[in-house]
Formats: sequence, C-alpha cells, structure tokens
Amino acid sequence: MKILDNLHAFLWDHPMANNCNTYLIDGKKKILIDPGHYEFFSHVRDGLSDLSLTPEDMDVVLVTHGHPDHIESVQVFADMKAVIAVSQIEMDFIRKIAPHYGQALGVPDFEPDFLLQEGELEIGSITLHVIHTPGHSPGSVCFSWPDQKVLFSGDVIFNGGIGRTDLPMGNGEQLKASIRRLAALDVDYVLSGHGEPVNGREAVKRNFQEIESFWFGYI
Ligand SMILES: [Zn+2]
Repeated sequence: MKILDNLHAFLWDHPMANNCNTYLIDGKKKILIDPGHYEFFSHVRDGLSDLSLTPEDMDVVLVTHGHPDHIESVQVFADMKAVIAVSQIEMDFIRKIAPHYGQALGVPDFEPDFLLQEGELEIGSITLHVIHTPGHSPGSVCFSWPDQKVLFSGDVIFNGGIGRTDLPMGNGEQLKASIRRLAALDVDYVLSGHGEPVNGREAVKRNFQEIESFWFGYI
C-alpha cells in the first residue's frame, strides 16, 4: 500500500498467522522498518519486488522492539549492506531475557550495527526522531518523521488499540506515559506494528482520544 510517494506499507492481514506490518521509506537511502517474522519474510520480499526492489537494496533496517514478530527477519540482512539498528535498551533486554525466554520468543542471535537512543537520526536526507516508548517492551522505540508528519508507532498504539503489557517487562504505567508523549506530536499518519494505518490529522487525534478514554481504563 502506498502511503506517500516515498513511503510504502506492507500490511499483514492474514487472519490466522501473527506477523507485523513492515514499512519502507523509499528515498535515496532505503529504510525498512520492522522486517517481521522470518517464516513470513516472503511477504516483505514480494512487497519490495512490486516496487522493483530487493532486500539487497536496503540501506538501513530499523526495529521498533525485540519481539520476534518484528525483529526475527533481521537475520535476512546479516550478509547484506543494510545497517541494522535496534534500541540500546531493547538490546540489553533481549540479551537479558534470551537465556530465559530466547527460545520461546524466538529472538534471533545477532549483533546490531548501530544502537538507537532517543533523539535525531539522520539517514541520507531524511531526519527521523527516535522516541523511547517503554511499556509494551522496555526498550521499545517509535520513529517520527516530522517532514511528512508520520509516526511509526510499533506496538505502542494501533488503530483503535494499544500494545499488550503482559509480556516480559511490560508495564502499564509506562505505556500510558509513552502514549501521552506520542499524543502530543504533530502527526497526520500513524503507522503501527499491526492493523490498518490511521490517516489524517483528525483521525489521528480521535484515535488518541479513544485510546485514552477507553483503553486507559484497562491498563
Ligand atoms: Zn510486540
């Protein structure tokens, strides 16, 4: 799905199998966000192919958090030119939980090329803001793209929902605080880790309002 001229969404809408949405910023530098489950990587490969691209063309792979349905396919890029970037706090979390949950969570054994911290991230001519948003996962990050008023929200918020807080080191109070930070951003598109995009300033505002008025009661 084309979101903007240089922004594409490979949405996952399989009714039975869990996987995340993957996003491509198709500038001079090609940025892939959340490559998803390894066993479903053909979904991303096909999406890239529709745009006459291949995984080898990617320059940067950004990961919002370390759950396998988002991160597992980083291994596809191990021998390619793409730089793999994961939050520093999330890498500590992955390393800490790996001996206990690694197999169950299926987190791949890998070394990121670059550790993300809160702040500006310049990739070619594109400037993203890395926002630390714990709650669903301790080192979860969202990426805002102020030039295009886009927010890649990972599993912090969805179109009509919020991320789970019952997974290892999830935290409801942190999730609320993270969502409140995101709600203050000037955003026209929310592109989340699962589900449909939220398109349009009013729809984005309404989505945040509904989340706060409804879902906050259940965290
Ligand atoms: Zn997750």
